[in-house]
Amino acid sequence: MTETTVDREATVGLLQELVRIPSPYFEEHDCAEFVYEWLDDRGLDPEYHHVSEPDITEYEGDNVIARLEGSDPDAPTLLLNGHIDTVKLVEDWEEDACSGRIEDGKLYGQGACDMKGGVAAAMVAFEALAERDLAGDVLFTAVVDEEGPYGLGTDRLIRDGYTDDVDMAVVTEPGPILAQEDVDNPALLLGARGRFLYDITVKGRAAHGSQPYKGTNAVVDAGKVAAALDDLDVGSHPQLGDGSVCPLLLEGGSQTLSVPERARLMVDRHVVIGETEDDVREQAEAAVDALDIDSDVELGFREAPDPGITYGPYVTDEDHPLVGALQRAARTVTGTDPALGYFASVGDFNYLGDRADLPTVIVGPDGENIHGAGEFVYTDEVVEVAEMLVEAGEDLLA
Ligand SMILES: [Zn+2]
Repeated sequence: MTETTVDREATVGLLQELVRIPSPYFEEHDCAEFVYEWLDDRGLDPEYHHVSEPDITEYEGDNVIARLEGSDPDAPTLLLNGHIDTVKLVEDWEEDACSGRIEDGKLYGQGACDMKGGVAAAMVAFEALAERDLAGDVLFTAVVDEEGPYGLGTDRLIRDGYTDDVDMAVVTEPGPILAQEDVDNPALLLGARGRFLYDITVKGRAAHGSQPYKGTNAVVDAGKVAAALDDLDVGSHPQLGDGSVCPLLLEGGSQTLSVPERARLMVDRHVVIGETEDDVREQAEAAVDALDIDSDVELGFREAPDPGITYGPYVTDEDHPLVGALQRAARTVTGTDPALGYFASVGDFNYLGDRADLPTVIVGPDGENIHGAGEFVYTDEVVEVAEMLVEAGEDLLA
């Protein structure tokens, strides 16, 4: 290290405070306020950025945003993005789900790893970068509703133009735990698969249950459709790996003695670059046609508050300066070359990497049990990631 950049105790203390404020998606208000106050206390000029989605979720909330202005308007702008919401608190915790307890270098709590550890690292790095003479800007965004159905916080950042002048983005999600292939920290994840969610409605014909041959059984046909989709040939990509199909839900049936006339199937489809929404639709429809079933089958993509809300796949070029700077930073901070990997699932980084078309890297502290009971993050890695962000930020924005 060239100089001490990050106060370890303060970083872990900050994380503990974040974890102790419950913030399941759609209920982030107290956590947003904490982040705002923390930045404000340090003279970092935070602002609230309102997020409103009146149609489907009726959500109202606020991202917290702060910007460090560099000395040169032509120098690049780096975005540090993290979500402050967590999944809904899981019931199986054997302790307070927001305890923030530390044992053996692990800090426990819902969202500790996904991703308050990463948010704490980004906050501390942002504070440290405020003390440097930088030519470029740093934009820090603590966003809401990443775990909710539509990623409304980052969606709103993009739609309100906050990413227009950004040149590259770092999302401090816990990378290794959801990487396509096993990697350990330090790791940089340079892309992610995309995802579509679609519904298949199967409409058969009711008849008396004792004479099933007189009707068309929608439940049986939906089962055939699920099996056919499970068997699809999906796309493949040299970095992102294979796409995937997972029928998530199958429901249907009717009365106690009737051939069921309706069933519904919900399908998760993870895609790689080259697989579009149209491809996904055509492929599913072709699989259904090949079954030659009597039910009427209709496929519809999930309703979203805006048609622009899609999780497209993306890959960031390994040669991009952001990747180089983070590689050097990882070496400086940890003494190791970082592993390069790709993310298996989707998140706000898809919005940044695909919709906003920003070179986007995921780098964050790892842990275990994300979205479950016993979730924890390694505190050493929180500090390491904060240090890496400072190093890389200085390098890129000097
Ligand atoms: Zn996350």
